[in-house]
Amino acid sequence: MLDCAIVGGGPAGLSAGLYATRGGLKNVVMYEMGMPGGQITQSSEIENYPGIFREDPSLTGMELMEPWPKQCMHFGLKHEMKEVKGISKDGDYFTINLGSEKVQSKTVIVATGSTPKRAGFKGEDKFLGRGVSTCATCDGFFYKDKEVAVLGGGDTALEEAIYLSNICSKVYVIHRRDKFRAAPPTVERVEKNPKIELILNASVDEVFGDAMGVSGVKVLFNDGKEPMELKVPGLFVFVGNNVNNGVLKQEDGNFLCEVNEQGQVVVDLNMKSSVAGLFVAGDLRIDAPKQVVCAASDGAIAGMQALHYIQENEEL
Ligand code: FAD
Ligand code: NAP
Repeated sequence: MLDCAIVGGGPAGLSAGLYATRGGLKNVVMYEMGMPGGQITQSSEIENYPGIFREDPSLTGMELMEPWPKQCMHFGLKHEMKEVKGISKDGDYFTINLGSEKVQSKTVIVATGSTPKRAGFKGEDKFLGRGVSTCATCDGFFYKDKEVAVLGGGDTALEEAIYLSNICSKVYVIHRRDKFRAAPPTVERVEKNPKIELILNASVDEVFGDAMGVSGVKVLFNDGKEPMELKVPGLFVFVGNNVNNGVLKQEDGNFLCEVNEQGQVVVDLNMKSSVAGLFVAGDLRIDAPKQVVCAASDGAIAGMQALHYIQENEEL
C-alpha cells in the first residue's frame, strides 16, 4: 500500500514528490511514462523561471528540469517509468491500474499535464520549440521587434496576438474562417490594433527553415487565391488544448471526480478535487496559467495536502 501515488513527472508531479517525501511520507511513487521533466523539456529556451536564468546561450527546458528528479530521489521519492492506465477508488483506497499490475494507494496526485493541439501543417513537429511555439508568454520575447504569425481564431489566439503585438513589430493572425470564435470585445481589440494584420479564410500549409529554426510560413487560401509566403521566424499555434485527463475516466465513461466542460479538473486552492484524497496539480486543473512556476507551486501544495490528509485520517 502506497502513501501517495503521483501520476506524471513534469514540474507539478516532481514538486509534489519533493514536498510529500521531504514532509515525511515514506512510500511515495511517481509514475512517469517517459523521462521525468514534462513538456517543458521540449523547449529550447526558458527564461521566465524565477531565479534561474542564463543569457547566452539561453537555458534549455531540459537543463532546467535535469536536477529536479535527483533532488526528489534524495528525499525518498521513487520513480517508476510506467504509464498509468486508470485510477479508481473503492472504499478508502485508490487503485492505480498499470496494465500488467494494480497498486493500491491512500492518496493520489494527478499531474498528467496538457497537450497543445497540433494544427497538422507540414513542419509543425519538426520545428516545435525552434520557431513553432504554443506559448506566447514563454517565447514571445525571443521575437522582440520581429514579425511573427499566430494561427487560430479562438480567445487564446487573439489574446496572445494582442500580447505579442506589445513585443513584436508585427503580428499576422491566420484564421481558417472570416468569423472568430473569440469573444466580440477581443475581436474588436484585434481589429483596431495597428500592429495586427488579419489573414482570413486561410490555413498554414507549411513552416520552413533550417537548422537555426523557422524562416517562413506558407499560407494557402480557401478560395484558391495565390498562396502567400510570410518571412517570419516565429509561428504561434493556438488551436486549442487537450488536458490529459484519460487516467480519470471510469469504466462507465464518467470521470472519477468533477471536471468542467473542457475536461479540466475542478480543484480548490488546496488542489483538492471533489474526491477525498485525490489531488490534481498543474496544467490539468481548472484555470491553469500553463507555466512551469505555477505547475511547481500546485505540486508543492498538493504534496503538502496529501501529507495532511494522511495525518488527519489516521485510520487509513
Ligand atoms: P507536464 O509538463 O505536461 O507533465 C506531465 C507529465 O505527465 C508528462 O511528463 C507526461 O509524460 C506524464 N504523463 C501523462 N500521462 C501519463 C500517464 N498516463 N502515466 C504516466 N505519466 C503520464 N512554461 C513556462 O513557464 N515557461 C516557458 O518558457 C514555457 N515554454 C514552453 C514551451 C513549449 C514548447 C511547451 C510545450 C510548453 C512551455 N511551457 C512553458 C508550459 C509548461 O511546459 C507547462 O505549463 C508545464 O510543463 C506544466 O507542467 P505539468 O507538470 O502540469 O505537466
Ligand atoms: P478554441 O476556442 O477551441 O479555438 C481554437 C481555434 O483554433 C478556433 O478558432 C479554431 O477554428 C482554430 N482551429 C482548430 N483547429 C485548427 C486547425 N487544425 N487548423 C487551424 N485552425 C484550427 O481554443 P482556445 O482559443 O484555446 O480556447 C479554449 C477555451 O478557453 C474556450 O472555451 C475559450 O473561450 C476559453 N478561453 C477563454 C478566455 C477568456 O475568457 N479570456 C481566454 C482563453 C481561452 P474555428 O473557429 O474555425 O473552429
